[in-house]
Amino acid sequence: MEFIDLKSQYQAARDVINQRIQAVLDHGQYIMGPEVAELEERLAAYTGARHCVTVASGTEALLVALMALGVRPGDEVITTPFTFIATAEVIVLLGAVPVFVDVDARTGNLDASLVEARIGPRTRAIVPVSLYGQPADMDAINAIAARHGLHVIEDGAQSFGAGYRGRRSGNLSTIGCTSFFPSKPLGCYGDGGALFTSDCGLARAMREIRVHGQSRRYVHTRIGVGGRMDTLQCAIVLAKLGLFDWELAQRRRAAATYDALLAGKVGLIGRAADRTSAFAQYTVLVERRDDVQRALQDAGVPTAVHYPVPIHLQPAYAHVSGDAACPVAHALADKVMSLPMGPYLPDEDVRRVCAALLDAVGTSAQGPSVLDAPATGATVAVSV
Ligand SMILES: *Cc1c(COP(=O)(O)O)cnc(C)c1O
Repeated sequence: MEFIDLKSQYQAARDVINQRIQAVLDHGQYIMGPEVAELEERLAAYTGARHCVTVASGTEALLVALMALGVRPGDEVITTPFTFIATAEVIVLLGAVPVFVDVDARTGNLDASLVEARIGPRTRAIVPVSLYGQPADMDAINAIAARHGLHVIEDGAQSFGAGYRGRRSGNLSTIGCTSFFPSKPLGCYGDGGALFTSDCGLARAMREIRVHGQSRRYVHTRIGVGGRMDTLQCAIVLAKLGLFDWELAQRRRAAATYDALLAGKVGLIGRAADRTSAFAQYTVLVERRDDVQRALQDAGVPTAVHYPVPIHLQPAYAHVSGDAACPVAHALADKVMSLPMGPYLPDEDVRRVCAALLDAVGTSAQGPSVLDAPATGATVAVSV
């Protein structure tokens, strides 16, 4: 069993992917070829945002988003410490200061109720992450941002395809960012990413920043980056888009089987009723995680930890973390464990994983609930 099975996916879409790749090799426009604009149109339509700008990676998308908003050295950007490092890394790269706000114990997403108290005169933006594929409390965060004249960037690297109150991830705030890293819900076969916005001025800024701040050839009207997504990767995403809704449904099928077999027996990440997850990960909460991971490994079940150390406790971030105290993120980081997940994971394998997991946690040795995570059922009402 693989943690994420990319080979089965390639087999499922093989002919279309091969044809799309061949078409690029035949026309030879490897940089900014026609597939780039074609993909941007398709993805904008999918999310409902007016504009999509593809870039070299999810990390690049976050960087370009901050640059397009004019984030400068000394500015503060509110974000979560319980995420992949890139979310905070790009803030620090620009000389800005990440202000880490703790997460909701049920979902692991930024706790919107703690945000307003951390806004100060230097705050420029808020960057919530839609962790494991489930959108953060975007409307609550947008409302706070609007009261203070701030912009919100959704780090939707894990949540392309997720739904939130009738809208889609990527189109939930001023700017949405996503990643096409191979293991993300919509992956390419290399690096890629995209930004979404319905603001024409920001879309234009993003397009310029992506190519060294050029407004015309060799006219550099702003500082930019070399941040294009290459044509081959765009062609691969285009080929895979045809399967994407089916794949999302299969991820949800696997998640529903996990829910049914695990609810009430191990801690689960809570899911709010007003949104759907893209299930980049299916994550549980366990005590003595190292032991549980070892037992699962012995049973042939791969697992992963997203993420073992919150960013404010990472050595390279000590100088920008100040006295950030995020006890919930800390507690979650000690307990989270992601199980195999993907569209091609058969229900038999989900059952095998659950049997091995329940065996490893020992249903009597370990109570069902850790933190305040819901012990029964995976759906909780999250107040916003
Ligand atoms: C994967 C990921 C990124 C970075 O995406 P890349 O395409 O790998 O650069 C950023 N934020 C989060 C939350 C991610 O999961």
